[in-house]
Amino acid sequence: MFDHPSFDGHESVHMFEDKASGLKAIIAVHSTALGPAAGGCRMWNYATGEEALRDALRLSKGMSFKNAMAGLPLGGGKSVIWGNSKTDKSPALFEAFGRAIQSLNGKYYTAEDVGISTRDMEIVATQTKYVAGLDQGEAASGDPSPITALGVYRGIKASAKRAFGSDDLSGRRIAVQGVGHVGGYLCDHLAEEGAELIIADIDEALLKEVSERTGAKIVATDEIYDQHVDIFSPNALGAVINPETLPRLKARVVAGGANNQLSIAEMDVALRDRGILYAPDYVINGGGIINVAAEISGAYSRNWVMGKLNVLIETLEEVLDEALKQNAPINEVAEQIARTRIANAKSA
Ligand code: NAD
Repeated sequence: MFDHPSFDGHESVHMFEDKASGLKAIIAVHSTALGPAAGGCRMWNYATGEEALRDALRLSKGMSFKNAMAGLPLGGGKSVIWGNSKTDKSPALFEAFGRAIQSLNGKYYTAEDVGISTRDMEIVATQTKYVAGLDQGEAASGDPSPITALGVYRGIKASAKRAFGSDDLSGRRIAVQGVGHVGGYLCDHLAEEGAELIIADIDEALLKEVSERTGAKIVATDEIYDQHVDIFSPNALGAVINPETLPRLKARVVAGGANNQLSIAEMDVALRDRGILYAPDYVINGGGIINVAAEISGAYSRNWVMGKLNVLIETLEEVLDEALKQNAPINEVAEQIARTRIANAKSA
């Protein structure tokens, strides 16, 4: 494992197998320098165990950076369950997973990610208290999307200020890709400020609903990249900024809530070279993890969440300004700040 291309000095990596329930899981703890490692659990039908390990290593490192950038007292970790989320789920499997989490004694907190529902996490919570993202309970934080969307909206304003000299979004043309939980709330904020919205989604009913509410124009999913807009906001899938889509974008800002927007690391340099200001996804969408962190703290407080959201936007502004000053690719600048925060906490 020490030679694995995705290994990044991870503190520990744990493999679990429970033959009775069929559980095969990996929990990767990248860093606990800032606090207990936190990051969701993904259930995916990986082709090989190596693929599962790569995902756990890569995603846990990403969580270290995300938590550090959100200024949270949390380190980075991630778990993966190797299996088909449609056919392999059972209460016994999630109980076994809960026991696996418990065996780490609070070094790692889990929550939902791709393939995992709140119901699954409720079963995990029967075996361990190191679970967040629950709907019920004293500190339950519920749906994080409204907070994520608020952070993205404020991040779009911060980006607009740097790209256009003003953070006023009234009359700005904004393409929003995906109007689900995050995208839907985001459209409400943008419309309220008078932005001119163009939206795309594969869900026709949702599109109609959001369009009626906000006056947004609807376009086909593939046409969203070709719109003459000021800002492109991805809020659906990952890897949407890629060598095929980038030349089609007319926007001067890319800022949205979707995770892993860049298909390959090199897109960071390509965005800069095209003069597009990109708000790093794992910084601008940090509202969700802030909400989860409030739950982990044991006493959910809306004031605490709002305070952390302010700090998150300040950090985003710091990243944007530094990148513009150095004419450096933005992700590189963000990663450097995150690594410094983690290293400082470690030495302290
Ligand atoms: P969601 O499932 O509610 O919304 C995603 C929307 O994208 C859906 O309406 C879906 O129909 C649409 N979609 C799917 N394929 C599409 C396509 N090809 N073109 C256009 N639209 C398409 O999910 P969400 O919770 O709103 O999350 C959106 C993104 O934000 C994801 O990448 C997620 O990982 C990320 N994110 C979410 C949160 C949160 O708090 N929910 C926090 C951080 C990051």
